Amino acid sequence: MQRRSFVMLVASAGLLAETPVLLAAGTRSVVVQPLGPGSTTPAASVGGSLSALYDVDVRVAKVEPLPAAALYPARGRYRAEKLLERLTALHESAFRVLGVTASDISTTKGNVFDWGVLGLASLDGRACVLSSFRCRRSARDSRHAAERLGKTAVHELGHTFGLEHCPTRGCLMHDGEGTVLTTDAERDLCSTCRGKLAARGFLRASARSPWA
Ligand SMILES: [Zn+2]
Ligand SMILES: [Zn+2]
Repeated sequence: MQRRSFVMLVASAGLLAETPVLLAAGTRSVVVQPLGPGSTTPAASVGGSLSALYDVDVRVAKVEPLPAAALYPARGRYRAEKLLERLTALHESAFRVLGVTASDISTTKGNVFDWGVLGLASLDGRACVLSSFRCRRSARDSRHAAERLGKTAVHELGHTFGLEHCPTRGCLMHDGEGTVLTTDAERDLCSTCRGKLAARGFLRASARSPWA
């Protein structure tokens, strides 16, 4: 489920407090949690991508430090599965929580203990995490890097909605295959993935990919 974001956002805590109707039962709120230095701007950029496709409300929380216990000192990377644990604990009542960091993140893949990834999610779980680190690599400019991060956000949140990797080339749920370059070929969720999301009630009625 590893892998691999864009746009503006949404209601502040203050606004929500004044308008409790937005928090009525059934509201699907995705909390975007910036983690560590340099994470605020990329975190703020992913909300629009998520709400363009998914029937969710997005809010961006205040930045939290990266947990020291998640650091893998040999590589200077943060272990993604430990970040998922931290995110889940930070937002116990959130429908979904999506962490964003500018630091490199990794997980174990096959025989490779520390494999750098764009993102990690738990399938049908509550949490996912993304890193802008690899999205910036070889990116033409900051806009290109943000686009990659937006696609990664859609991909990882899709996993938490029960979507597995999709064999269709160009689909946002296609496996990243270990490189950020795959995101550049992706434009939209394919009809099969859209159908699965719609059946589960997660597809926005007016869903439209920002990259189609
Ligand atoms: Zn994946
Ligand atoms: Zn697909």
